[in-house]
Amino acid sequence: MTTTDVPDIRIPSDLRPADGRFGSGPSKVRPEAVAALAAVGGTWMGTSHRQAPVKAVVASVRRGVAELLGLPEGYEVVLGNGGTTAFWDVATFGLIVARSQHLAFGEFSAKFAAAVAAAPHLEPPRVIESPPGTHPGTSPEAGTDLYALTHNETSTGVAMPLRRPEGVGPDEALVAVDATSGAGAIEFDPAEVDVYYFAPQKVLAGDGGLWLAACSPAAVERVGQLAASGRWCPPSLDLVIALDNSRANQTYNTPALATLFLLDQQLAWLNGNGGLGWAASRSRASAGTVYGWAEASEYATPFVAEPAKRSPVVATIDLDGAVVDAGILSAVLRGNGIVDTEAYRKLGRNQVRVGMFPAVDPDDVAALCACIDHVVAALS
Ligand SMILES: *Cc1c(COP(=O)(O)O)cnc(C)c1O
Repeated sequence: MTTTDVPDIRIPSDLRPADGRFGSGPSKVRPEAVAALAAVGGTWMGTSHRQAPVKAVVASVRRGVAELLGLPEGYEVVLGNGGTTAFWDVATFGLIVARSQHLAFGEFSAKFAAAVAAAPHLEPPRVIESPPGTHPGTSPEAGTDLYALTHNETSTGVAMPLRRPEGVGPDEALVAVDATSGAGAIEFDPAEVDVYYFAPQKVLAGDGGLWLAACSPAAVERVGQLAASGRWCPPSLDLVIALDNSRANQTYNTPALATLFLLDQQLAWLNGNGGLGWAASRSRASAGTVYGWAEASEYATPFVAEPAKRSPVVATIDLDGAVVDAGILSAVLRGNGIVDTEAYRKLGRNQVRVGMFPAVDPDDVAALCACIDHVVAALS
């Protein structure tokens, strides 16, 4: 669509949210965090990541993640460069012994499965799929050494509970969870997972480029076991190297310092306000507003039919095509400073998608719903 096709609809300023960022990643970065970054712009930015000031921030990030997620004794927070997508390759080399099982229910979960399927050193993975808008369950299988789950499928707005496969302990198989858009806003029991990995540009309101992984003792043991097996691994994807560097509060190669700083700010904000329980309740409040509005609406419907599977952090809302074109709606919103409500492109639905991460004010989410009603009325 070109800008000339977008109807010129001005939303009254008293209806508009105070902050118009509703992206599902990158997501709203709190202005306070950006101001804090600017304040260290001349002293901390542009200094060595091998020196104490930056290492102190990495240490604070590792502590902050452990606190926020309530990690038990013995779990370690590891980090490296390249975001979650790079971590899939890290896992392909450093966590899967031979055969993995993947729950694929959207773009991101399917991508990890595809990366594993293409790896010549592994057996073909078992991939259990379910239609978009739902999630499958694990199926315990002998010979499977890693189960790949996704806490929140960002492309479809489906969240799933995290549980070890029935009767399968960490000594037999690891449970690895892509929590990129869930970590820090959805409660879970860390004892049910071995590798809980994510990136900072979603719930953690930082910027992209890093991966982080909370690793159980069984996961750390697996890393050592695979290293001892002599399997070749590119150094930039090597979990042994990443683990060694993380323990020294460093990364193997140069990280983006601004990303680390913003991440540390957000962790402090979440932990200072009450931690995971508080963050989850803030996102739940926003989700209650959006799903409640859609259910009451004549033209909007939550895409995820089963309420228990609806994500508390990413709402996908189908719109009646006879009433409104979602692409035009999102473009009008964008023209009013309300951005990134576009649906996940490959899902191909007449839909809006709303990021409801803890950084987003629940009042702004309510304002967004009112703005959508306003624009739809103006369009019809
Ligand atoms: C955003 C996202 C990714 C990709 O993260 P990158 O850091 O861009 O690689 C992977 N998985 C999920 C569930 C996501 O939401």
